[in-house]
Amino acid sequence: MFEQARCWIDGSITPASEAKVSVFDHGFLYGDGVFEGVRFYNCKAFRLPLHLKRLQRSAAALQLTIPYSSEQVVQAVAETIAVSPLTDGYLRIIVTRGVGVLGINPATCMQPGVIIIADQLQMVSDAQREQGVRAIIASTRRLTPDRLDSRIKSLNYLNAILARMEANHAGVEEAILLNDRGCVAEGTADNLFIVSDGILLTPPATEGALAGITRQTVLELAAANGIPAREAVLTPYDLYNADECFLTGTGAKLIPVREIDGRKIAECPGTRYQQLTQAFSALIQQETGD
Ligand code: PMP
Repeated sequence: MFEQARCWIDGSITPASEAKVSVFDHGFLYGDGVFEGVRFYNCKAFRLPLHLKRLQRSAAALQLTIPYSSEQVVQAVAETIAVSPLTDGYLRIIVTRGVGVLGINPATCMQPGVIIIADQLQMVSDAQREQGVRAIIASTRRLTPDRLDSRIKSLNYLNAILARMEANHAGVEEAILLNDRGCVAEGTADNLFIVSDGILLTPPATEGALAGITRQTVLELAAANGIPAREAVLTPYDLYNADECFLTGTGAKLIPVREIDGRKIAECPGTRYQQLTQAFSALIQQETGD
């Protein structure tokens, strides 16, 4: 299952199946850590500086010091891609608080650790990407920024996991989380866009969305392709009445949504979705091609 996965742990490279982390690691015990997911194409990490900036900021918000300079992390990423048998794949960069006593106190963790995993990640089948996925609006709510700032990409994903379990139970592929005011936040590991009256809309981070790098890229591509776009507070009503809906994320790339809570989305895959997907592929080629 993990034959092609390679792992960099604080300077040592191993096949991921042999990689070991201490049971006293607070990332493992408490989710005390932050991470990034980065895609690589043609052995080059896509938009790595943006990911490292977000990683740095997530860590700073938790007063967690990354024990390497960003040049060293760039170097570690390059080494991990170099030992990976894959030319296109997915990297997981994890910064954990490190090994400490069994109690929760992060002050007992003397040395944060960095782990990089390179592997494949396919979030949906090719058929689902073509036809679109079905989603439900989960009863599990996304933590609002006054509880845990959604811009921190922490190792705590229980919100999203509970929502995803609801989707599994309902027999659909994805769950959409609302915040505690009933406004749309995002998907379980992706941001959400709709097209309404020709305008591309996505919830702002203040509603509980991660400041997604793919989301930002899609907004830039919309601007470059003459598609009007803006952030907007959205409710389930807006989703049910959307002309188009799609999800974005590093793992997801762009995934069209064809149904939400049993309501068919008017266009799937929609015109703007197709335009933006093409532009996204062209950008990847431009930034990582030879
Ligand atoms: N929201 C959540 C909760 C996520 O885990 C992700 C994946 N990183 C995203 C949104 C999409 O962000 P990005 O485009 O930066 O991968």
